[in-house]
Amino acid sequence: MVTGGGESGGSQMPWWCRPRWHAPARAEVVVVVGFLFAMALGALVFGGGGAGSLPASFSSPRTEFVPKPVLTESRLHADAGEAGSDAMPTPASQHDQDRLLGGLLSSAVDEQSCRSRFELASYRRPSPFRPSPYLVDRLRRYEALHQRCGPSSPLFNDSVEHLRSGRNAARSECQYVVWTPFNGLGNRMLSLGSTFLYALLTDRVLLMHTPPELQGLFCEPFPGSSWTLPADFPITDFAGTFTMLSPTSYKNMRLAGNVSAETLPAYVFLDLIQSYTDAAFCEADQRVLAKFNWMVLKSDVYFAAMFFLMTAYERELARLFPEKEAVFHHVARYLFSPSDDVWDIVTGFYEAYLARADDRVGLQLRVFPEFPVPFENMYGLIVRCSEQYEGLLPEVAQNDSARSVGNHSSSTVAASGTGKKKVTSILVTSLLSDYYERIRGVYFTSTTATGEYVEVHQPSHDREQHTEARAHNQRALAEMYLLSFCDRIVTTAVSTFGYVAHGLAAVRPWVLLRPPSPDARADPACVRSETAEPCLQAPPRRLCGAAEGSDLGALAPHVRHCEDVYRGLKLSN
Ligand code: GDP
Repeated sequence: MVTGGGESGGSQMPWWCRPRWHAPARAEVVVVVGFLFAMALGALVFGGGGAGSLPASFSSPRTEFVPKPVLTESRLHADAGEAGSDAMPTPASQHDQDRLLGGLLSSAVDEQSCRSRFELASYRRPSPFRPSPYLVDRLRRYEALHQRCGPSSPLFNDSVEHLRSGRNAARSECQYVVWTPFNGLGNRMLSLGSTFLYALLTDRVLLMHTPPELQGLFCEPFPGSSWTLPADFPITDFAGTFTMLSPTSYKNMRLAGNVSAETLPAYVFLDLIQSYTDAAFCEADQRVLAKFNWMVLKSDVYFAAMFFLMTAYERELARLFPEKEAVFHHVARYLFSPSDDVWDIVTGFYEAYLARADDRVGLQLRVFPEFPVPFENMYGLIVRCSEQYEGLLPEVAQNDSARSVGNHSSSTVAASGTGKKKVTSILVTSLLSDYYERIRGVYFTSTTATGEYVEVHQPSHDREQHTEARAHNQRALAEMYLLSFCDRIVTTAVSTFGYVAHGLAAVRPWVLLRPPSPDARADPACVRSETAEPCLQAPPRRLCGAAEGSDLGALAPHVRHCEDVYRGLKLSN
């Protein structure tokens, strides 16, 4: 979302994220023994919201979409309505113990260059999804292309010369898509992941315009090369050059009717921010765009979902991603490895506060400045959600006599396989500290029905979004990863920050729904998502070949509407 102004994140580095871990000097994060909300009600079972739409079909001269099959019980996850058990498909063997994530990561990467790449496997939950052999092969071929055409290669230097000349060269061996960031980190990661998928589908080389606030966040993903634009790249003023009015924007070229001209400009700007996704996803658009050797792409949405509605990519996508629920999961785990600095934050916090827990619950609480849900209303969503889904959060004892009762109760839940009491850690992430304070207070003053220990932790509370500040973004990235290590993840509707966390984890989140207005009551308070995929919040208003008014969420078997943004689209198995 839109950046705040002013203050630098660098000075705000909290006590817990100093590069080398030391025991905390003050108890900002309190380990709380106790029990939670009065949740006497049984869990309400939700079918999962989402599509709910009747199957529909349409045809066009080039495209034949099959009706979306109605989901049957057996295709739904076993526990669509319960929190206790994991709703994901049966985990695949031990593949995720493999440090290279089932071949997703190249073995050619130097271990010293990026510690998280090799250490992540021992912190993450095992992935339920194995990358297809075809995806693994395509990634290795992509890496070879990137080495051949990437910065400082002779082919790159030639291509840059053409760019300087101002004219698009006849099709060259190397074509590029230069991603430029827009909006908050979650938006950025969704659009960067989508751009990488686009590069794979169109044989382009992905390069990244990296302003200072993005530097030092991620490791280089491609062995033997870089995805960062070199300092002497001829385009420097990205913010000023690439606006909605830019004459090189494909949308504006199309409006002006000059995209079929013999002499194309040296690059095309593909503007896919929120409401501008209309121009790009027709096959005719893609044929024109393919002529440009240089493309600059700016987006803040998960536009990857749109490729699954295009016949041209259908076969390739089916081979790359037999499991549609794992598209972002694989792309993000391949592309994004936290830098050593961010990894220090992640591991320092994890080892200190989360490692000893038997059960970890992530609570991502986002209050959007443009939709300021008051504290009590938002807090009420958490309480009602935990009533709806029994076991989502540890239950507070109804008849709470004393903290010690819970601690010594004979009915205490033991951590599996040990004689010890179960410890549940609740990780709260939010720009505000109020939710953490309240939840911590509840567990501090109450006992849990099961007698388990509950700890409540919040890594940071920066109060405002400061996307322009590197250290702030490092904390945000660290928290996305910490959330992704949790067994259950509760996210806030519409937040791309949350999408990234559950997508990385391949965990289907419980989504706290947005009320009709900030003060109104959301009913239900939350739903369990039927997929771990992020939502494309702003799909095009219509699709080429589809009849006017067609429901895009009903056009293809693996595309459905989102629980939190009805017009939005998401992929599911
Ligand atoms: P969205 O606005 O919720 O869709 O997510 P974005 O990630 O695109 O933008 C929100 C930005 O606000 C984040 O990138 C962070 O900079 C900041 N932010 C929001 N919530 C949190 C949080 O829980 N923890 C931290 N550290 N930063 C947050």
